[in-house]
Amino acid sequence: MGDEKKVLHMRKFDGGNRSPAEFFRQQVYANTKCSMCGGPPAMRIRFLAPVDEFQRREPEIYAALVLKMGGGDPSFPTTYGKMIHVESVFACDQCKQGARRAAAHKPDWVLCEFEEMGLEEKHPLIIQVAR
Ligand SMILES: [Zn+2]
Repeated sequence: MGDEKKVLHMRKFDGGNRSPAEFFRQQVYANTKCSMCGGPPAMRIRFLAPVDEFQRREPEIYAALVLKMGGGDPSFPTTYGKMIHVESVFACDQCKQGARRAAAHKPDWVLCEFEEMGLEEKHPLIIQVAR
């Protein structure tokens, strides 16, 4: 009787259905799908354009954005200056390498921000900006 092993009952996160990181992904990327295959997104690539550059190159789209904002400023401040959000692309674990490669072919005046959430604790949220 002395060798009896103690059984420890640990409460698993969400009953073991998903890890905290998977939960985080579902919260952050809610209602979005991988832009390529439709799977659950693991990263987001945001394409941003400097407001003055965007205004010069795409005056009609800029005017439409201003109109959509009710005459307001559609740009927002970042550490790289005021930016216009051009597009967001989502990619799952399988498609993210391809998405990164595709993002490299952006016009050189567009900035892309890679936001990635790994599934393990040693993979924290990474936000990279490429010019
Ligand atoms: Zn995919």
